[in-house]
Order: sequence, then C-alpha cells, then structure tokens
Amino acid sequence: MKILSVEAKAFKVKLPTNFTGSNYTYTHKKCVFAQAKTDQGIEGFCYLGDDFGLGRKIAKMINEDFSKILIGRDPAHVEILWDEMRPMARNILGDRRIALHAQALSDILCWDLYAKSENKSMITLLGKKRTSASIIAIAGYYGPHKSLIDLAKETKNLIEIGCKGMKLKVGGLSVSEDFRRVKTVREAGGKDFLLAVDANQAWALDEALEFARACEHLDLLWIEEPVHWDNDIADLSKFRKMTDIPVCAGQSEVTLAGVARLIDSEAIDICNLHPGYAGGITPWLRSADLARENGLRVANTGEPQLSASLMLACEHGMSLEMYHPSRDPLFPKFCPAYRERINGEIKPTNLNGWGILPEQNELN
Ligand SMILES: [Mg+2]
Repeated sequence: MKILSVEAKAFKVKLPTNFTGSNYTYTHKKCVFAQAKTDQGIEGFCYLGDDFGLGRKIAKMINEDFSKILIGRDPAHVEILWDEMRPMARNILGDRRIALHAQALSDILCWDLYAKSENKSMITLLGKKRTSASIIAIAGYYGPHKSLIDLAKETKNLIEIGCKGMKLKVGGLSVSEDFRRVKTVREAGGKDFLLAVDANQAWALDEALEFARACEHLDLLWIEEPVHWDNDIADLSKFRKMTDIPVCAGQSEVTLAGVARLIDSEAIDICNLHPGYAGGITPWLRSADLARENGLRVANTGEPQLSASLMLACEHGMSLEMYHPSRDPLFPKFCPAYRERINGEIKPTNLNGWGILPEQNELN
C-alpha cells in the first residue's frame, strides 16, 4: 500500500462562552484536520484539537514538508516513517510546537491508514486490553460570576450527559477558595463520583502542598500538574513524597526522555504525555510502555478522539477524558464513540482506524 495524497487544514470554532483555567482562557476550539488517500482506496482521517492557535502553520508544514516524506510510502511502516520525519523538527530557530504538531498529525494519520488497511480499529490493532473505560469530563472552568451553586449544577449536568466524574480546574483562586470548589463538586457528585483536579502548573510548591493537605480526605483520583514549570520535576518529586494523592504529569513534556526523567525522579504516579505536543502516537505508545514497566498508569489529557481508543488499548489506562460539548463540539460531531456512553463508561466502536468520520462540509 502506498500513500497517494496528504492534505491538512486548520479549523477554528468559536465557543459559546470563554473557558478559563488557572492561567489561560480558551475562546475557540482550534484544531488541524488531516486526510490521506492510498493506492488501495483507503482514506485516512484524523485531527488534533489543541494546536495553540498555530493550526495554519502546522497545516502548511504538513502540506509542504511532511507530505513529501509520506507520499509513496507504506503507512504500515509508521515507526520508520516517524524516524524519517524527525529531522523536520530539528530546526533550532523554528517554533518547535509547529513541527511537533505537524509530525504528530502525520504520525496519527499513518496509524489510521495502517489500522484501516488491516481492517481493524486502532483498539484492536494495538491489542485491545479493556472493554470499557470510565468517562470523566475536563470541566469546572472559572467564570467571573460562577458561584459554588453553579459548580454543583455543572457537576450534576455532567452526570446527566453520561460522565462518571470530573477533572476539575483548580489553581485559579486562593487555595481556600479552590478547596471549597473541590468540596462542592465532591458533595454534588457524591462519594462514588470520580474526581481529579488539574492545576495546570499554577502553584508554588508550598501552595500545592497546602491544597493537597486540605483535600486529602476528599478522595481525589489524582492531582495534575500541581507546581510551576520552572523546576517542575524536582518540585513534583518533593510534592509526591509529601502527599498520598496520586500525582499526574507529562503533558508538558515533549519527549520520551522527559517522561523517563519524570519516572526516574519518582515524580509521578500517572503519565499523561500529550500526543500532539510530543510528535504523535508513536512516542505516546512508548511512554505508555515505559509507564507500565515502572508500575505507573497512563492518561491522555484531552483529545478524546484519540483517548477513546488509547484508554481501551492500555490495561493501565485511566479514564477517557472528554469535555462538555460546548467546550469541544468536535468529539460529538466527528466520533461515533461519543455516543457509545453507557452508565458513564465508553465502549469500543466497530469502526476501523481511530473511528473519526470526516464531514466534508466542515473541511471546505
Ligand atoms: Mg492537564
């Protein structure tokens, strides 16, 4: 099988409201789509939905540079192709985020074509390990007029739309105010509600510890990226020794070596390398192997169109993390997996590849 064509396009959807975390605000869902055709008539389709607003540059790099490596090649040789694409990310004067995202989407597209050529879903191709995974929503964003009552209502609404839990945004207010937000969600969701928190690197080490001590009785699944990035591996390592709450990080790393440093420093319990930031699924799968060999779990922050497969392909996977459709209108639109929600669990679809279906009108 040979790839005949590769085409990428940036795409942006205005969100109905702003979504504010500890140190950032999303106003749009910004993403890059990629599609490919092969000489066997197989069509690949995928997207990444968190491109830093660099989508047009990422798409241009795929169309003008990465496509030259992929066209004429067999996508089943995806790991060889990943190595061959790597030099495109070596320009030390370029914006590395653009090259890594372009490599990532090219890699994810090859995996889609490879699975489809084998007439398999990605879950089956990777060797299905689980038949279901709990769904949690990345939610609880901040708002200028958002009260604790609103947060409790949001929690109940997430249960109504088929979520078993929430990854709550923290780090944007004082530790005591954030503690009250966590307590509110715990009480609204109930004792069985899966509750994790994500500070997005908002705290100094002492603030992170203050928060962890306050929340230790609230049965948190994990605390994600609790400390500033300035010295994060050392601080995560100190933090983890001083709390019983599992620590999740990895999404700010861009290499497998970075993940290895986190693991060697005993800084994490759960690794959530981001496949878009790190150059694709090929390094993500290696990070998952590394985590498993060291007795750790893996998560895939955001990008539910990928984690709907990845979390079922890893026995040490955590939950499928999705968003409310108002924060991410793409997953419900392009992925039938969104509809496979039963009692807060996601099930495998019978679609080949990533199970992402193109809607031509959206791309034109
Ligand atoms: Mg995160």
